[in-house]
Amino acid sequence: MTTQTPLDALREVLPLNAATNEDGVLQIGGCDVRELANEYGTPLYIYDEHTIRQTCRDYLHDFQSQMPGARAHYASKAWLSPALVEILVEEGFGLDVVSAGELHVALAGGMEPEQIGFHGNGKTPAELAYALDSGVGRIIVDNDDELALLDELTRSRASEQQIMLRITPGVDAQTHAKTTTGLRDSKFGFPLPSGQAESALVRALEAPFLDVAGFHIHLGSPLFNIEPYADGIATIGEFAAQMKERHGYEWREFSPGGGMALSYTADRTAPASERYAVKIAEAIHTACDTHGLPMPDVHIEPGRSVVGRAGVALYSVVSRKHIPETRDYVTVDGGMADNIRPAMYDSKYEAAAAEQMHTIPSLTVTVAGKFCESGDVLVRDTLLPSLQPGELIAIPASGAYQIAMESNYNLALRPAIVMVRDGQARLVRRRQTLDDLLHLEL
Ligand SMILES: *Cc1c(COP(=O)(O)O)cnc(C)c1O
Repeated sequence: MTTQTPLDALREVLPLNAATNEDGVLQIGGCDVRELANEYGTPLYIYDEHTIRQTCRDYLHDFQSQMPGARAHYASKAWLSPALVEILVEEGFGLDVVSAGELHVALAGGMEPEQIGFHGNGKTPAELAYALDSGVGRIIVDNDDELALLDELTRSRASEQQIMLRITPGVDAQTHAKTTTGLRDSKFGFPLPSGQAESALVRALEAPFLDVAGFHIHLGSPLFNIEPYADGIATIGEFAAQMKERHGYEWREFSPGGGMALSYTADRTAPASERYAVKIAEAIHTACDTHGLPMPDVHIEPGRSVVGRAGVALYSVVSRKHIPETRDYVTVDGGMADNIRPAMYDSKYEAAAAEQMHTIPSLTVTVAGKFCESGDVLVRDTLLPSLQPGELIAIPASGAYQIAMESNYNLALRPAIVMVRDGQARLVRRRQTLDDLLHLEL
């Protein structure tokens, strides 16, 4: 049994500067979570602004010290809101989107269109038209039909568009099957081994208004093991060399994608951004030296690792259930509607009794969500102190792919979101209301 206080045990997964007050109540960004729950209700998503900013600074510092001029695009599918976009702009990040919706929010938040990359394997004609009309910096082309459509749309506008080709290198990223994307059998990108990547390049070079800036890969996520980046980059480097030799095409840009891991649990910590930077830079430099290629402009696309640690989900205990010789459950007022990840990816999390952070936990408890699915379990068999209905449970590392994948299942109301900084909280999204549930109904 652990003798550490929950604050010490969870330091690596909680936001930077997480603390407790003298009563043992968790504090994030200098704000007492009990006060936040009283003011804004639960479930509540709390984002620590300092953690987001520091993470952005670390990324740019670590990658630029390996590769001067390296840039970072936040993968906005992990979580997007205008409040976040403002921070990213101030920190010098660009941003990737995968839909008209994400593009719309990115622009509304003040991101320069030139700093936006448009991804996705199913961009519709309307979405591509919106992207072209908005002046997005790069469209990352995924497949032949998209290439043909873009050729047509840019011809009819007579306006040039920079593109990158997303290549599937055939590398196993060794992560969950639902989040592996670099294998030959993937719905994403132009397969390299089959020759489809090469024919796509040839066609793109013939398109009068398409300017091929370079190549893109994304292997999957989260990549706790950094070796697959080196494998993927070596494969693409070889491809780039062949394309130079056969078609006289020289890459100007390259992206190794995202997938940098996040520490969800205390026993499995993510590599620091510096380790990704060193590994990725080394692989790109090696590829260029080996094949006599020019060093491309590099941009990375971290998503979860930028916002994951900054976010804490705060719930209230609703009920408890003791099943003799079987299991103890505590049910909270949220669950799979705001966090589908345990049900979808078997994701593991930590849980803490947010008002008892000085108490060493001694009961094995399963934290269940309130939704009508047996699979709606947030954290299985974790150590917690005894909890009464109404007490708060915090789940750290909740900033990525939770709000982004939320639903109204069971017609739950979407949670409020607060941004905290220096002891001040600001509501960046209000909680849905019961009337909101009827707004779209005719
Ligand atoms: C999802 C995705 C990312 C970000 O992945 P994370 O695990 O959130 O870092 C980056 N690039 C592309 C193309 C993606 O699809």
